[in-house]
Amino acid sequence: MVKRVLVTGGAGFIGSNLCKALLDSGHDVICLDNLSSGSIENIKAFEDHPGFRFEQRDVTEPYDYDVDQIYNLACPASPVHYAKDPVQTIRTCAIGMINALELAKKRNARVLQTSTSEIYGDPLIHPQNESYFGNVNPIGPRACYEEGKRIAETLCFDYHRQYHVDIRVVRIFNTYGPQMLRNDGRVISNFVVQALQNKPISVYGDGSQTRSFCYIDDLLKGLLAYMNNGIDFVGPVNLGNPQEITVLEVAEKIIEMTGSGSEIRFFDLPKDDPCRRKPDISLAKTKLKWEPTVDLESGLSKTIAYFKNVIGDR
Ligand code: NAD
Ligand code: UDP
Repeated sequence: MVKRVLVTGGAGFIGSNLCKALLDSGHDVICLDNLSSGSIENIKAFEDHPGFRFEQRDVTEPYDYDVDQIYNLACPASPVHYAKDPVQTIRTCAIGMINALELAKKRNARVLQTSTSEIYGDPLIHPQNESYFGNVNPIGPRACYEEGKRIAETLCFDYHRQYHVDIRVVRIFNTYGPQMLRNDGRVISNFVVQALQNKPISVYGDGSQTRSFCYIDDLLKGLLAYMNNGIDFVGPVNLGNPQEITVLEVAEKIIEMTGSGSEIRFFDLPKDDPCRRKPDISLAKTKLKWEPTVDLESGLSKTIAYFKNVIGDR
């Protein structure tokens, strides 16, 4: 059945890939975005699609659309972007969440919130599972995002308990792939662009901190499966790839895969940068029958091909 779907943050990295997947499945899509960390280029390919509508607006202002499903993605995700205007980041997380939940309540729609592994902060347990409450510095430079996303989760569960709003809460771990902005500031896009341009690779700290990277296609399958399944499961659920790797190893791998002449340069580690991160995805496997299938090498080669094109074009 054709669904009317609202994607907030639909011009961003994950949002634009999601809009495309929804349109390809025959659904009608409204993409709402203020273009603060997204790009009109990301949605150019389907701008004229009859099932697609773009609304340039801010989620902190109330909105009303007659929809069946809401994917709430609007929020800068790169530390560089979310720390630029921290108060706006908190407003986006909190007021944006309330506006999405109010719409879901009014229209009887299902709302899927894209939460994050950042709600675990600098985790003291490893790997991280959904029952872990996290280790977040509430007054640090990352708090606007980490606490913002935590309050958004709280709002989801309070709207669910108080008003029976149909919620789905996903905790996404580092995801990468085509449509990331080249100047986004996140590690994969930075390293790939630097390597392709033979510029120094900027490793923060000594590069021994770890992340676990999920390719966009895998994440999309998880989001769509969760939004559309009939089970009574509101989450939260981790979505990510448990293949853990150090940041230094990522740099070396990207240099090797691009055949780059770049050297590695070390810079200060940003404050509160988590030391280790790896999802426990047992819950997603059991409840959603989901697990990632794209390994880092395959995902990186597609991402490298994408950035080669972008750099060549612009
Ligand atoms: P992104 O920055 O590429 O996309 C976010 C989009 O939201 C952008 O297009 C931006 O313009 C828009 N936006 C920001 N504030 C807005 C506002 N106030 N009103 C309207 N639009 C606004 O980030 P992404 O990687 O695509 O992430 C999408 C969502 O997934 C975010 O909520 C992020 O927190 C979450 N997430 C992403 C990752 C990841 O690794 N990519 C990990 C965890 C969680
Ligand atoms: N990082 C890095 N060099 C960069 C960008 C990021 O070494 O140019 C590191 C960053 O300090 C962190 C990891 O890579 O330890 C992942 O950073 P990113 O901003 O992609 O996501 P995070 O998981 O921190 O939100």
